Amino acid sequence: MQVHERLFIGGDWVAPSTSATIDVVSPHDESTIGRVPEGREADVDRAVASAREAFDHGPWPRMSPAERADVMAALLGELQMKSAEMAETITREMGCPISFSNMGQVMATNMVLDYYVGLTRSYAFEEVRPGMLGSCLVRREPVGVAGCIVPWNVPFFVTMLKLAPALAAGATVVLKPAPETPLDAILLADAIAAAGVPKGVVNIVPAGREVGEHLVRHPKVDKISFTGSTAAGRKIASICGEQLKRVTLELGGKSAAIILNDADLEFTIAGLMPGALMNNGQACVAQTRILAPRSRYGEVCEAVTEAVRAWTVGDPMDPSTMCGPLVASRQRDRVEGYIAAGKKEGAKVTVGGGRPAGFAKGWYVDPTVFVDVHNRMQIAREEIFGPVLAVIPYENEAEALAIANDSDYGLSGSVWTADVDHGLDVAREVRTGTYTVNGFSMEFGAPFGGFKCSGLGRELGPEGLAAYLEAKTINLPMGYEVKS
Ligand code: NAD
Repeated sequence: MQVHERLFIGGDWVAPSTSATIDVVSPHDESTIGRVPEGREADVDRAVASAREAFDHGPWPRMSPAERADVMAALLGELQMKSAEMAETITREMGCPISFSNMGQVMATNMVLDYYVGLTRSYAFEEVRPGMLGSCLVRREPVGVAGCIVPWNVPFFVTMLKLAPALAAGATVVLKPAPETPLDAILLADAIAAAGVPKGVVNIVPAGREVGEHLVRHPKVDKISFTGSTAAGRKIASICGEQLKRVTLELGGKSAAIILNDADLEFTIAGLMPGALMNNGQACVAQTRILAPRSRYGEVCEAVTEAVRAWTVGDPMDPSTMCGPLVASRQRDRVEGYIAAGKKEGAKVTVGGGRPAGFAKGWYVDPTVFVDVHNRMQIAREEIFGPVLAVIPYENEAEALAIANDSDYGLSGSVWTADVDHGLDVAREVRTGTYTVNGFSMEFGAPFGGFKCSGLGRELGPEGLAAYLEAKTINLPMGYEVKS
């Protein structure tokens, strides 16, 4: 069992303000695997003061982008050395298969940091514009102190979607990990210290939602970047709205995979299942509504059912496991509630629907497929956040598009077809932030974020960096030449 007694604030491991602690419980066997201090309001105040000092008087925002990129590259080196330990830590905390941890939780995260190291070196933080009334200098200055609030499902990856562009911009950060997954953030803090990130640039306070809200309201915080549920996002947006605080929100999803009439089913199912069930179904971008043409509905339902039957459930530390437990008993209750609701509404379970045999402990549910689903049913409208898929029939392509768009969410989606040009036409019609033709992917150099209730603003790509920058225009006297 890992026990940590201090918080990472101001570049040091400091004593917390109270003796409150958070126990980290294994979703696999329900044993307590770690304990960290539970941050309270006074700890957030101290972390914000330290980030404020580092921003207002420290070197970080005043260093050249190339100097910041060198420090970020050193951080990447430190994290790469810890890759295996990080992947195991995340799997033990939240239960995703170790194979997914290695790739989706850790390798992808390091790639995001690597992308921003490169962008920091090439980005035009300052440019001279010949204007209509004379030249001006357009600067992109760091936003200030950023409060970054992350969920438990992809804790290290979501942290990096915020931390890397914030560092690139010259901002300073107070990070609030979710109480379910504070242990990966401890490893991150060690790497930050070892990489020579100046003191106070990154401060980490694991805590629950009330203390998170204190961070959101804090008058010395300039920007909030939040990833989590749509309900919490609404609350955070309203607080930021009152304060005119900058805010980025990455929220839930209920993405549709449209299988067209001409799709090769074997290829489609093999490509689609990881996008539908990855991370034990606890993914905001999960393709959980599978839209199939009525003429091929039986065939698609059968193929999805067989693929999900073969999606093996097991100990997440076993490299052959495809689905581990859900993060918490509370989360299993929620998923089981949706399974009961689907049955009650008249959808039919073709595989799963209960708990897998052979697990005396742990918060396991069977990967589950519902067929005969109508898009008005609760299981088609709400984010379940577990390994539960709904196969929905459509009569023609216009109806498929209407169903895909008939959602409060708009985060991800895919279309599967033999005709890629036609797939692109479909992609243009779906109101969602990220879309893939014949696959499921997330490009780190391109914007990622939600339409509608899936969020506000974008992460990744240069757009993700812009979220930590303020544009400033300095008008120059007539005839003045800026020295490069
Ligand atoms: P959650 O909203 O309950 O909590 C997320 C984080 O916010 C946690 O750290 C929590 O402590 C904190 N929090 C909650 N309420 C808060 C408040 N009022 N003020 C400040 N902080 C608050 O979500 P969760 O259950 O941890 O995560 C699952 C959700 O996250 C799903 O809806 C999922 O779709 C979403 N998610 C979205 C993305 C994306 O990029 N769009 C990525 C991952 C997860």
